[in-house]
This record gives sequence, C-alpha cells and structure tokens, in this order.
Amino acid sequence: MKKKVIVTGVTGQDGSHMVDYLLKETDHDIFGGIRRLSVPNHRNISHITSSRFKLINLDLTDQHSIQSAIINHKPNYFINFAAQSFVGVSWDFPGQTFSTNANSVLHILEGIKNHKPDCRFYNAGTSEEFGNVDYSPQDSKHPMKPRSPYGASKCAARFLIKVYRESFDLFATQCWLFNHEGTRRGIEFVTRKISDGIAKIHFSLERGETPKAIVLGNIDSERDWMDAEDAVRVIWQILNGDKPREYVIGTGETNSIRKFIEIGMRTINISGRWEGSGLDERYIYNGNELVMISEKFFRPAEVDQLKADVTDAVRELNWKPEITFEQLVEKMVQNDIKLSKAENHCV
Ligand code: NDP
Ligand code: GDP
Repeated sequence: MKKKVIVTGVTGQDGSHMVDYLLKETDHDIFGGIRRLSVPNHRNISHITSSRFKLINLDLTDQHSIQSAIINHKPNYFINFAAQSFVGVSWDFPGQTFSTNANSVLHILEGIKNHKPDCRFYNAGTSEEFGNVDYSPQDSKHPMKPRSPYGASKCAARFLIKVYRESFDLFATQCWLFNHEGTRRGIEFVTRKISDGIAKIHFSLERGETPKAIVLGNIDSERDWMDAEDAVRVIWQILNGDKPREYVIGTGETNSIRKFIEIGMRTINISGRWEGSGLDERYIYNGNELVMISEKFFRPAEVDQLKADVTDAVRELNWKPEITFEQLVEKMVQNDIKLSKAENHCV
C-alpha cells in the first residue's frame, strides 16, 4: 500500500516546496492541510496537477480538525509547517501565535499517540528559540532564550515533543532550522521585502521615474540564510533517519540585512552608498534614496545575530546546502523582476 504524508502549511513557502519535493522523489500520497480563508491564496500550489496530491481541511486552531485528519488518513508521516510564522506580528497576536504554534502540536501528538503511533512527526522548529544568544555559532546544546512570543511558542512545542517522544516512544522531532528564503517567501519577511522593492526600483529607474525607497528597521542584525528548497530536502532525510534526532540546520555563514541589500542592488547594477546614521541612515544612488530607515519596523526585542553550528548535520547527514547566499539573493531579485514584469504587462 502507498504511504501517506500529511503536510500542513502547503499554501506557504516550506509546505509547497515539500509537496514538490515529495511528488518528485517519492511515490507517496500527499494530503495538504489548508484552512478556510475568505480569499484563498493557492498561488504556491497552483502549478501542482498530480492526482497524488489532495487538499484536506486542517485548521491548527481546531483540535477536532487535527484529530479527524489523523483518524481519517492514518498518515505514515505528519509534517507540520503550518504556523503563525512571522516574528514581527507575534507581539500583536501572542495568543493566536501560541495557539497555532504550540497548542496545535499537543493536539497533533495526542492524535498520533492515540490513532497512529508509528506515524513519523516533524514539527518546524527555529533558530528564534535560541534568541538572545550566549555564543556563536549556535549548536543543539545552546539554551532556549526566545525573544518573542513566536520564539517562545516554538520552545513550548519543542518540549511537548520531547515529553511525548520519551513518554510514548513516538518518532517525533523538531529541528532548529535557521532562516530560509526563496521565491515563495512571504512578502513581509525582510529578504522578500527587499527583493520585491529592488525589482520595483529597477522598473522605475528604467522608465526614468523616481524610485520608491524600501523602508526598513534594523539593518544591522545578522541571519544565517539558506535556500528553502535545500531546507525541505534535509527535513525529509531527518524524518527518514534511524532515530528522531534534533539537528541544527543552516549554512554556518551569517550576513547582515545591509549586505543583503548591497548584493541585491548589485544584481540590478546599482552600486550606491550609505549616508547618515541611525534613523537618518539612507542608501543613495544617483541622488535617489533607495533605502530608508523607520522606527516602525524595529521590534520590541531583537535577535541580533544567528549563525548555525552545522557540525552534527555535516557529519551525520552529510549536509551541504546547494545554493550560496549570493545565489539566493540574486535568485530572489530576478524572480521579483520577472513577477513585476508580468504584472506590469497585465495592467
Ligand atoms: P509561511 O508563513 O510561508 O507558511 C505558513 C503556513 O501556515 C501557511 O500555509 C498558512 O496558511 C499556514 N497556517 C497558518 N495558520 C494556520 C492554521 N491555523 N491552520 C492551518 N494552517 C495555518 O511559513 P514558512 O513556510 O516560511 O515556514 C514553515 C514553518 O517553518 C513555520 O512553522 C515556520 O514558523 C517555520 N520556520 C520557518 C523559517 C523560515 O525561515 N522560513 C525558519 C524557521 C522555522 P495560510 O496560507 O492560510 O495563511
Ligand atoms: P526573522 O528572523 O524570522 O524575524 O525574519 P525577518 O525576515 O522577519 O527579520 C529578519 C531581521 O530583519 C530581523 O532582525 C528584523 O528586525 C530585521 N528587519 C529590518 N527591517 C525589517 C523589515 O522591514 N521587515 C522585517 N520583517 N524585518 C526587518
């Protein structure tokens, strides 16, 4: 009989890439969990035509829908990517963040324990659990020091998984994935906000119009950015390991937002300069202000630097990302140029 995989968050970045990956690399049947929205957003999965992929109703804030999904489909794998995934708004919706990211994990674990105890469960963990870091790079022994309701919700999920794994011998794991980006990244995340802004600047300059500046918050924080397609590949490998191990997954390289901007601008042959400091800092090119800073995008608490210690992943999983940081930035900017071009043609 064919194996069954439930993947949640399939309208988002990682879930949609995981579905593409599983359709290509396995012959399993895939059930993509979606929630009801007044305006559906299926852009990331609209290209999928395989009859092995079916959508199912699965809202993480509804315990009954989680139970029904497990009882009805008896999955061999449950991959939970669905989340309130944006750190920035987690201070505005702390309750919804906790309910979506932590309570739901308890319901998934209960469902698996009671109805399909041999199901392999992966929950999406994050470097935001390390938060206010004690040392760099961060390894799996680094203490949990979250700086946001988002980070705290993922820590709670991690401990629930540990307790269920140890109490009921479940194959359940949550790895620390560092930031991963790509052409399907949500527009409010800083990398996509920048690549989209640069694409728009490119078109304005081409038409001789005054470009609209990209307005950002703290551009000096540093992240270990990898490609989302590299990330789903290693998650599947971990889920098929001998034991439910918890790995730190990243590139081992860290870069600032400032550097992301500079490489992105280079992609459209712009080499500007930084002027001013603090909230008055600007990135200027040919008299145009292309990047500005606003207090609005600073957070109540910041994670200044994240960098993965990938020693275990390299040794045990032979982990190596295929896409470099520079390639990732260029890919995102080129994709947004393509999308902007298509949109402009439609107008
Ligand atoms: P996205 O924001 O792109 O996708 C989130 C998905 O969760 C969307 O499909 C969304 O559906 C779904 N979702 C949100 N709330 C619910 C709900 N109540 N019920 C069902 N589905 C829901 O996130 P990513 O793909 O970037 O991230 C995937 C996972 O990995 C997340 O858990 C995230 O926290 C974690 N993570 C991500 C990192 C990254 O850099 N990308 C780094 C580390 C961890 P809808 O379209 O309906 O909103
Ligand atoms: P995160 O690492 O999961 O919080 O991913 P984000 O892409 O949302 O943020 C990465 C870093 O960029 C954080 O340090 C933010 O404070 C910083 N940042 C600076 N300006 C912005 C902005 O305008 N939007 C977002 N999302 N982040 C910004």
